[in-house]
Amino acid sequence: MADSVTGRTSKIWRDGDIVNWEDATIHVMSHVVHYGSSVFEGIRCYDTPNGGAVFRLRDHMRRLTGSAKIYRFPMRYSVDDLIQATVDTIAANDLRQCYLRPVVVRTGEQMGFNPENVPVEVFIICWHWGSYLGHDAVEHGTDVQVSSWRRAAPDTFPTMAKAGGNYLNSQLSKLEAKQNGFAEGIMLDSAGFVSEGSGENLFLVRDDVLYTSQMSNGILHGVTRDSVITLARDLGYEVREMQMPREFLYLADEAFFTGTAAEITPIRSIDRLPVGEGKPGAVTRSIQKEFMGIAKGRVADRFNWLTPVPSPVSAKA
Ligand code: PMP
Repeated sequence: MADSVTGRTSKIWRDGDIVNWEDATIHVMSHVVHYGSSVFEGIRCYDTPNGGAVFRLRDHMRRLTGSAKIYRFPMRYSVDDLIQATVDTIAANDLRQCYLRPVVVRTGEQMGFNPENVPVEVFIICWHWGSYLGHDAVEHGTDVQVSSWRRAAPDTFPTMAKAGGNYLNSQLSKLEAKQNGFAEGIMLDSAGFVSEGSGENLFLVRDDVLYTSQMSNGILHGVTRDSVITLARDLGYEVREMQMPREFLYLADEAFFTGTAAEITPIRSIDRLPVGEGKPGAVTRSIQKEFMGIAKGRVADRFNWLTPVPSPVSAKA
């Protein structure tokens, strides 16, 4: 059978045990298959001159336990347990860099969507994954459209929870964009203000000020977004988290997406209108450079964002 995951590895953490990739299966009658009941994370481990290092691991695990709390998943693991499990998973696969996917799933074979008493399992998977929108997009920018699909209204699906079901909305936006010849869709919130990409947060730059949607615009509270806000302010830029009308997208000098998978991907056009000069701008470049510099250990980790992982067995003397 062909591997459906490019860059797959050999071991997966399953509720405290390290199991073979092939054995990390669930039943078709699992609650999650029918009702989308999962919460998850996307995390990156980078290869640095001092060995592998996971980027903002504690913040990701805090978001995971928060997502689980919102949906009332019983969690047997603390943030510290999950941090240790992540390091163990990377070590079991003998890796220095990877993408990590912790996922909490209602795997119990129980029908009816009421989730009470449905058994829950936790998995941590890792594999090799390049930048989500592609290396070319990271270098030259990407072309996007405003989606006709909106982010969920605040009293429908909680967008601060990174839940599997939310990604049906993302899939519609992404599919629409791809079928229209764009790489990605930017969704508006239920009131028509700018929200975010299908799997990324969004920043605009105008007159050297950075703008990004606020939490109440139906966004996921991105770890990369938070890192960019911190870095931009540290580099002397003003950052405003605010409600933005759609047309502000067309007036930006620069625009970029942020996300663990997408990292920092410049946007060169929106709805076929060029963003600024239609290529990545100077502010985007300076933030991209600083962010990747810290993640890859080339710039001092002054915000304490990296968790070292044990050196792979093969790298030991
Ligand atoms: N918004 C959505 C909908 C996402 O799926 C992601 C990726 N997790 C992000 C934003 C960016 O979040 P982060 O920077 O924490 O990866």
